[in-house]
Amino acid sequence: MQEFAFELALCAHLEAPDRVVGRQLGAAVHGRRVADVVCVEPGPEFERRAAITSETIPPLAVESAVGPGTARSVTDAFDCHPDRARAVAERAVDLGFFERERDGSSAAVRQTVRYPDWFDSLVGIENKPDLDRPGDLRDQLRIDVSVGLFDRVVLATETYVTGAHLNRFPDAVGVWRFDPETGEREVVREAEPLSTDGPGIELLDREAGRAKVRPVTAAEKRRQRRRIAERAYGKGWRTYDLPDCQRCAPSAAEPDEYAGAGLPWCDWQDGIVRPVADCGPECPGYEPVGGDGAVDGADEQAGEGERADDAEAIRARRSAWEPDPAGVARRQSGLDRFLE
Ligand code: SF4
Repeated sequence: MQEFAFELALCAHLEAPDRVVGRQLGAAVHGRRVADVVCVEPGPEFERRAAITSETIPPLAVESAVGPGTARSVTDAFDCHPDRARAVAERAVDLGFFERERDGSSAAVRQTVRYPDWFDSLVGIENKPDLDRPGDLRDQLRIDVSVGLFDRVVLATETYVTGAHLNRFPDAVGVWRFDPETGEREVVREAEPLSTDGPGIELLDREAGRAKVRPVTAAEKRRQRRRIAERAYGKGWRTYDLPDCQRCAPSAAEPDEYAGAGLPWCDWQDGIVRPVADCGPECPGYEPVGGDGAVDGADEQAGEGERADDAEAIRARRSAWEPDPAGVARRQSGLDRFLE
């Protein structure tokens, strides 16, 4: 199975009402590592985070010197170019995380609420359906373990895992054997908890006989962990649009646990497809929605209903993500107006 389909099936399998799942998230401090899947396990202040906004709060807003007490000048409170600071502050106002106050003639903002300590743990999952084509897998897992951004790191594969496979990966890496066609997941080896509080070492590059590494401080790790969790919360894992084809039928997905997950399931191919690569008029099975295909009126209405049950509604139903929070501040539009 293609890695994309494997990854989506695993996300659908892992999604749960007390968890947030994201995919393809930057997981490096100085390098370029991207994690395939991240599971965010909520902490005690999760509801306070969910009440702010359904979207990603800009990292620079969280990391700025703007707090919930006295309003601070936008340009003074951010460690970046003033234009960037204003744009980030405006976004944070739009999301209800900042509110504006007058500070003489300059723009000032304060947090509407203290940024909560909202997640308990992060699990980073690297997908490699076929271990006979490992690519950079060993280095990727070594990076994840030596940096320690995740509380646990797991390799997920469809391959039968042998002792020789296990010996190639760091001992701390857990291994799951996952069958995307049945949704069955076997824990071949438990992941060991990693030290996320202390410093780490990041492998940036490797050439013959030489490895370029860089230390990562505890503060950098804290910041990056929060960024990963925020991104996972705002982005989720359904980063695709369903194809404009009547044969895409998410509710027909198999096994049953996938049927309500909003997967791009194709009845014609009898599997998960990659809409941007597989779908469109060039596909021999393509039947445009609303075209002259063989669907009768009742089926067409059913199809439209399924599409109306959009990715946000599905995500809200199946995960801890809150799509429409009340917010913690009265929304105000356009920091520009204030900056005039
Ligand atoms: S375009 Fe082709 S692959 Fe895509 S849903 Fe339609 S029949 Fe399936």
